[in-house]
Amino acid sequence: MKSTEIDLHKELKKYFGFNKFKGLQEDVVKSIISGHNTFVIMPTGGGKSLCYQLPALALDGTAIVVSPLIALMKNQVDAIRSLSSEPGIAHVLNSSLTKTEINQVKKDISSGLTKLLYVAPESLTKEEYVSFLQSVPLSFVAIDEAHCISEWGHDFRPEYRNLRSIIRQLGDVPVIGLTATATPKVQEDILKNLEMTDANTFKASFNRANLFYEVRTKTKNVESDIIRFIRQHKGKSGVIYCLSRKKVEEIAQVLQVNGISAVPYHAGLDAKTRAKHQDMFLMEDVDVVVATIAFGMGIDKPDVRFVIHHDIPKSLESYYQETGRAGRDGGEGHCLAYYSYKDIEKLEKFMSGKPVAEQEIGFALLQEVVAYAETSMSRRKFLLHYFGEEFDEVNGEGADMDDNVRNPKKKVEAQDQVVTLLKVVKNINQ
Ligand code: ADP
Ligand code: MG
Repeated sequence: MKSTEIDLHKELKKYFGFNKFKGLQEDVVKSIISGHNTFVIMPTGGGKSLCYQLPALALDGTAIVVSPLIALMKNQVDAIRSLSSEPGIAHVLNSSLTKTEINQVKKDISSGLTKLLYVAPESLTKEEYVSFLQSVPLSFVAIDEAHCISEWGHDFRPEYRNLRSIIRQLGDVPVIGLTATATPKVQEDILKNLEMTDANTFKASFNRANLFYEVRTKTKNVESDIIRFIRQHKGKSGVIYCLSRKKVEEIAQVLQVNGISAVPYHAGLDAKTRAKHQDMFLMEDVDVVVATIAFGMGIDKPDVRFVIHHDIPKSLESYYQETGRAGRDGGEGHCLAYYSYKDIEKLEKFMSGKPVAEQEIGFALLQEVVAYAETSMSRRKFLLHYFGEEFDEVNGEGADMDDNVRNPKKKVEAQDQVVTLLKVVKNINQ
């Protein structure tokens, strides 16, 4: 279809069954359909996939979608196929395909049947695929999880750095970058690396007004404090994040002996146990999952009522993502982090084996975590500022939803500790 002939609401209903666009979706879709380079920053769950799927389905030619995880690509392809009677409408191209399968994919693309072609960045570098893709009409290239291009993001993938040169070989196709990473530094990296500083940029607000943010000083009584907190939220679903597998097991046991239904979740457990524990949580057979960051990728339980960080994470980006799993349904979501400077030192030590450039970034990110934990200002304002967003701490939505705003207090000793860390960063720079 020509871009001017497309009735967006009709397409939305036809393919997705939705009556309305969510947030900025309609503007994004229009930008893509009119052939502009487009950059989309929306929190997880904001509805980024539809932003490129709808234009891909409506436009002539095939859209290439670059995505970092094979499992995610498969999910998306299955979802799109279920919207259509034509299985060839979406394909994945990767190294696991047989020769016959690859030929089928090429045939479907050549005949104009395939609207979405999902590829991993490393597959896209293959000479054979590039020359094939040069010979077929393409609508655009969408790069999902575009923060993977930046060392400042939480999931840097070097293969993403090659994308621009490959896209150049594919000819003059519009590029769409999408991410849930909102820090200005990462955004800048994405635009620069993809050579799309001219892109139409759409950024949704990252404010989660229903989440309550709280930081408590971590003392040796942290476990009994957590137990008390959970008892105050009896029967509610919650996640407790710990840094190490050992700690996960330990806390899960402490909770169990205290009569709280909890299961551990970490990458050291076998796949069957992990799946079982995840299901138990989703089915509400247990209230609490104690987990490392291995838990949560793709978890979409709407009524998680609290997220506790037994150990503070290594960046505010991670903290935002992990706390973001609370209150998806718009209901209560209490985000409680335990903080001690000793934990920061532990995180520093973890980093000390890494290359200097990586350490430098790591320390700078940690420094923001320290500042967040020790601040006496509105935590929401702090977090949103970190994401390049100005928050009105008087009238903004959720303005009174944190410990500092509810119980203002002066913090003095905090200053020294920030200075110590700054010194560390400086030493490395020299
Ligand atoms: P993101 O990639 O931004 O994390 P997804 O694309 O996975 O988000 O979408 C999150 C959820 O929102 C999905 O369940 C999707 O079906 C739903 N969704 C997307 N757009 C709409 C819409 N216009 N109306 C209703 N639900 C939508
Ligand atoms: Mg997504």
